[in-house]
Amino acid sequence: MAKLSSKKHSQTHRCIIYGPPKAGKTLIAGKLAEFYKLIWVDMENGHETLFQLPEAWQDNIELINLPDTRSYPIAIETVLKMVKGPVSICEEHGKVGCMLCKRELSTAQNAIADSDTSEKEKRDLYDEYLTDVNLPALTHESVVVFDSLTQLTNSAISHITKNESDEYKLTYDDWGNLGKLLDIFLSHIQQAGYNVIVISHETEAETEGKKKTLVPVGGTRNFSRNIAKYFDHVIYAERKNKKHVFSSSTTYATTILTGSRTGVAIEDANEPSLLTIFKPELYGDSLDPAIAEGTSGARSSAAGTVNSAAKSAVTANTGAASKKSTSDILARLKNKK
Ligand SMILES: [Zn+2]
Repeated sequence: MAKLSSKKHSQTHRCIIYGPPKAGKTLIAGKLAEFYKLIWVDMENGHETLFQLPEAWQDNIELINLPDTRSYPIAIETVLKMVKGPVSICEEHGKVGCMLCKRELSTAQNAIADSDTSEKEKRDLYDEYLTDVNLPALTHESVVVFDSLTQLTNSAISHITKNESDEYKLTYDDWGNLGKLLDIFLSHIQQAGYNVIVISHETEAETEGKKKTLVPVGGTRNFSRNIAKYFDHVIYAERKNKKHVFSSSTTYATTILTGSRTGVAIEDANEPSLLTIFKPELYGDSLDPAIAEGTSGARSSAAGTVNSAAKSAVTANTGAASKKSTSDILARLKNKK
């Protein structure tokens, strides 16, 4: 039997960062490349922002580009395969086991087979066509970034309705299937042995007492309202006075869903950084970057008084959600569309 104290500080973190466009979500996640190996699953073609990082940090980021569109919704298919096991993804289509690209690679390999080709050249040729990735084998030294859950949701919807016309209205079963697909993805990353960052946008959801609250987008409004339960940290990003502002404590604002299971209040740091979550030992009690080592214990007990984690907010929301009638939810979904 494991002692509770040994379970207290989980080695990995699951974060969702959400907010409006241009709020600095990509960059704050990318900065983790200073200390971690990042696998960046880009469904938004948003990786250009990462070129602002020092080159040495960029070397720690492996980019997997998934060119997801309405007519080619590849992201949901590839991401679900990625979280389950080792895969080989083609550069051109973002597809697992792409026969077209495998054939092209093999033609190219045959063309250089007889010549005096080094192992490195062979490897480079392979890398031009395919990326091998094995997420379940990753450890706490890696961070996998999914950018974004909004696009993954769109991809799943396009996938579910791929044989329908543009006029098509999603049925109750379609929305149910969307929820199932997203649940498979989120459940896998919830159990992952690596760190996870999911980037998303914001939507307004009604919680208990008809209060409007901003929550991360993921699936239907109903599903979005409960999405925080899959994460340890729910971080809101916004622009205030031309600055990027981030918040993670439960008490930050009553109309914005935020929370941190380890009690981190990212808004208290001098410079907003995810290291307040990933490497709290770099910070003292005040969340100013500190040189002191071994302060993580003090840090978490100090913050313990600040909040009681995202889950409590979420539990309240779930209760409100289940009281809503199905037809009500569907009606609102149709309006949204
Ligand atoms: Zn391909």
